[in-house]
Amino acid sequence: MRLETETVRTEILDPRAGHARRSLTLEVRTDPLTGHTARVLHDVELFPEASEDLAALARRTRPGCPFCADRIEQATPRFPPEVVAEGRIRVGEAVLFPNLLPYGRFASVSVYSPRLHHLEPAGITPPLLRDNLAAQRAFAIATRRAEPASRWASINANYMPPSGSSIFHPHLQGSAGSQPTTMQRILAGVTPDAWGDYLDTERRAGTRYIACTGRVHWLAAFAPLGPGEVRAVAPGISDVVGLDDGVLDELAAGTSALLALYARLGRPSFNLALYGCPGSWLSLRVMHRSPVRAYYRSDVTWLERMHLEAAVSLAPEDVAAAAREVFP
Ligand SMILES: [Zn+2]
Repeated sequence: MRLETETVRTEILDPRAGHARRSLTLEVRTDPLTGHTARVLHDVELFPEASEDLAALARRTRPGCPFCADRIEQATPRFPPEVVAEGRIRVGEAVLFPNLLPYGRFASVSVYSPRLHHLEPAGITPPLLRDNLAAQRAFAIATRRAEPASRWASINANYMPPSGSSIFHPHLQGSAGSQPTTMQRILAGVTPDAWGDYLDTERRAGTRYIACTGRVHWLAAFAPLGPGEVRAVAPGISDVVGLDDGVLDELAAGTSALLALYARLGRPSFNLALYGCPGSWLSLRVMHRSPVRAYYRSDVTWLERMHLEAAVSLAPEDVAAAAREVFP
């Protein structure tokens, strides 16, 4: 498999150096699986430092939080009995219930724990994440049983305002329905052979490959969808309902390590998506978002929003090198 990159050179007369001529370069890379292109900028930093005190934000948002232990029973919806007999799904400390704002036929929210309103990424431990993912797997199984046509399942997360999260209390979101999302449709077109070729190619190249944790491969995306993006691929598994406990443990441990890395980089806000893809292989994508601060610079500009193309200033090879340091 060829990993295509084109180096683009441009010149400016730089005001920071008396308007002397200065050469700048960037790469335009093509994702070999999806055809998406991405721009990797050299020698720049797109983000300001984080400035928001997360503990203060936690204090401000705790009064009235519907996901905290003293309100969750009254303030969150329940599933009808034909979907989930008990109304909500509980695994360990995780509690899963329907989303008040449905983005699909079945939509769920699952908090890591009603007692953990303030849970920073470094505190999202493998057991907390595993139990929450297990609750989402149970939701996918329940909705499939209730409605077999709901075969497009995914597990997702927004964390902190830059990611699109509207409620501070950390949680995952699940989705299941008869319609794939655009990305699920694209990924469903990736054959198992193409996935295998991709993993072989990246393993040989080595610079973006992070680890194999058993049955799950972890690597920095060659042409990322966003900053700091890491992918995990579970060969032979296509669906959220097909995740066994061992793979769930691997996904939890690897993701927990990545979130701690993002926090260390001063980028606690993140998105993740675990895409179920009938006929293809299940994959996870995790990326960090803009630093949490008032009047922050969004990492989603005209390029990302209107052209579906990310510009990143941290090279995927540097993401992989940093992730290898912290990986379990
Ligand atoms: Zn809360």
